[in-house]
Amino acid sequence: MKKMKLGKTPGPDGLPAKYYKVLGNQLSTVLCDTMNNILRGGKIPESWREAFITLIPKPDTDKLNVKNYRPISLLNNDYKLYADIMANRLKKCLIKLIHKDQAGFLPNRFLKDNMRHVINIIEYLEINNDIPAALIFIDAEKAFDNVSWLFLLKSIKKAGIEGEFLKGIQAIYSNQHAKLVINNNLTNTFEIEKGTRQGCPLSPLLFIMALEILANKIRSKPEIQGIKIGSKEFKLKAYADDLILTLGEPQGSIAKALETLEEYGKLSGFKLSKSKTKMLTKNLNNEAKGKLERQYGIKVAKKVKYLGIWVTPKNINLIEDNYTATWNKIKKDLDVWNRINLSWLGRMEAIKMNILPKMLFLFQNIPVIRGPKIFKDWQKALSRFIWQGRRPRIRFKLLTDRKERGGLAVPNLKLYYEAACLCWVKDWITLENTDLLDLEGADNRFGWHAYLWSNKGKVHRGFTNHIIRGPLYEVWGKNKKLLERKTPWWLSPTDILSIKKTNMEEQRLTYEDLLVRSQGSWKLRPYEELKEKLKSWLQYHQINALWTEDKKLGMNEKKSNFQIEIIETKSKLLSKMYNILLEWDTKDVEIKDVMVKWERDLGHNIEYDKWLKLWNEGIKFTASAAIRENLEKMVYRWYLTPEKLNRMYRTGNKVCWRCGTKEGNFIHMWWTCEETKKFWNQIYDEQKKIFRYTFPKKPEAFLLGMVGEEIREIDKTLFQYSTAAARMLIAQNWKNANLPTVKDWQLKLYGFIELAKMTQRIRNQKNAKLNEEWKKFSVYMESNFRNLPTIAGLI
Ligand SMILES: [Zn+2]
Repeated sequence: MKKMKLGKTPGPDGLPAKYYKVLGNQLSTVLCDTMNNILRGGKIPESWREAFITLIPKPDTDKLNVKNYRPISLLNNDYKLYADIMANRLKKCLIKLIHKDQAGFLPNRFLKDNMRHVINIIEYLEINNDIPAALIFIDAEKAFDNVSWLFLLKSIKKAGIEGEFLKGIQAIYSNQHAKLVINNNLTNTFEIEKGTRQGCPLSPLLFIMALEILANKIRSKPEIQGIKIGSKEFKLKAYADDLILTLGEPQGSIAKALETLEEYGKLSGFKLSKSKTKMLTKNLNNEAKGKLERQYGIKVAKKVKYLGIWVTPKNINLIEDNYTATWNKIKKDLDVWNRINLSWLGRMEAIKMNILPKMLFLFQNIPVIRGPKIFKDWQKALSRFIWQGRRPRIRFKLLTDRKERGGLAVPNLKLYYEAACLCWVKDWITLENTDLLDLEGADNRFGWHAYLWSNKGKVHRGFTNHIIRGPLYEVWGKNKKLLERKTPWWLSPTDILSIKKTNMEEQRLTYEDLLVRSQGSWKLRPYEELKEKLKSWLQYHQINALWTEDKKLGMNEKKSNFQIEIIETKSKLLSKMYNILLEWDTKDVEIKDVMVKWERDLGHNIEYDKWLKLWNEGIKFTASAAIRENLEKMVYRWYLTPEKLNRMYRTGNKVCWRCGTKEGNFIHMWWTCEETKKFWNQIYDEQKKIFRYTFPKKPEAFLLGMVGEEIREIDKTLFQYSTAAARMLIAQNWKNANLPTVKDWQLKLYGFIELAKMTQRIRNQKNAKLNEEWKKFSVYMESNFRNLPTIAGLI
């Protein structure tokens, strides 16, 4: 129940997730009893058999054709809880039962692994151009909807699932019905007899179990030839129902494969759509291609979209077809957004929410970019957008820093790309995924760690010609020293020393296995201790020789950050990796620049803690983007002063446009100018009237919102709003000689009540808090403006 997401449409019983969250304690016993009863062979509640199905039209299609609607099933939440528990239990067995060729729906299997596989296969066939091959991208007609239940249950039994668990699933897949929701009316009930249940957490797992029967058939038939590397044969990969066959000897293999698909289809309901199935070929002449096409009725395509990526028989096209194409679309988006009036923060948000995900998808699936040029072009375009073609007022590095450290978290695409590459390099380090490594390193001459640590890429030039190895090696080389300043624990001397074999086999020993810490330093364990694991005494000596070298670089007392957070972790790798790179990238700048300037202007030190507090708490007093933007701009000293304009454009005049006498630098314009000071004094006097006590007038409180003990806790929010109102008025009248009046300020602050109300609503805060915070202001306003509607009433 804790994991349930709020805000989703409930099922036929109308009970939303919130109901279960609030009443969790009372409901859990009843639910638990019900569910256990089903496992013991009891009936499922009638309401679980029912689904409401709504139809969502696919964009830009003919709305009169029923095929152009996507059905969305709404299921009851109690049913979903049950199915979710079953699914989590099932996953634990499936990870062992389902071959690694299937990457969908199971923990630690990823879409990008399939893409990597396909690219590697194409690359392998490029190097070994004597192997004729075909890659067939199977398209099944609504695969999920057409699976027969009988077959589904049989595959489950075949997988060895029985007893309570089987009963638990049988209970669901025995009798289902649904009603369509059309224009808010319900149709009559109709029965459902096939297909996995959409929206049910169990259904994709059941589906891949059924598909696994087909996959096993294909793997076991010797007449269907895959791509062979040593003792391994790569025949297929699947991501849910997205199936790809990689076949050698296409003539015979395709015939057999189609036959197998047909047989399987008869039993399961799986229907191959020949018109949508496509193939790419490698090392075949036009005549042979034509023959395949005619014989099997499957089109030989120039380009296929596989899992969101355009693939062709030449990997080099990946950049043009995917990166360039995506970026061209992004440029169009930028043009459109340029025309609408987005705020400065809004433009940065647009990059984060719209552009970053598209690029991340490519980075994670096809890290095949070399060199820095393309990133510079992208960054330039983004910078132009953020600053609307004007000169940037804040250094790019500062913009990219994390929010908790005072940055604005604008994505640094190059670092994201490198982070994605390093997540791929992880496989070269752990040496666990031997299928992948045998394929990716089919023509390697040394062990992977020899490339990673002993610069063997320089000896074996061909290593970097590979579409994937090249870019990864480049990024690794660039970041290696930063990630591992000393000899890493994960480094495997036995892998460095090993003679490259077609298929990886022997267990690798790392320094973690080989070394022991004694008297404050690292030593190689004695031969006696390692004997069992080593091949020979000679190997021990080779390791010792290597260690003597590596020792010079030194060894960390503890595992490196990189090892702990990336190598030994499985979740959120990309963002962790990005943060490691980012921290390093922004280390020297942090926000120091700006901090130093403020301290110089204020004439005293501001502790780092106070800055942290400002970014992590202070700035969050409101949800209003406009007010927050003002505060960010203050921190970053965004406003162009006469002095700065003179520096930038040599205007020849750096005198303050308010007092007309002194130099108009940042602190003068905002605080020390006689005119500005008058305005601030007025505000200060009014604030004292509001709060009904006196307090010191600290510039950091008024300009940066760094409020200390001088303002009582209860008044802090109102103080923030009231100074923000003053600052925004100054900013709005930036180039005016005259500053606004107290009355302008009072009205502005009065208007902020609406924003405070919205903040409270967004954050689910209580009315009482808002009343408390604004009470003093309402009393103050009532004595000033008798004719205004009372604020108490407004709140
Ligand atoms: Zn002045």
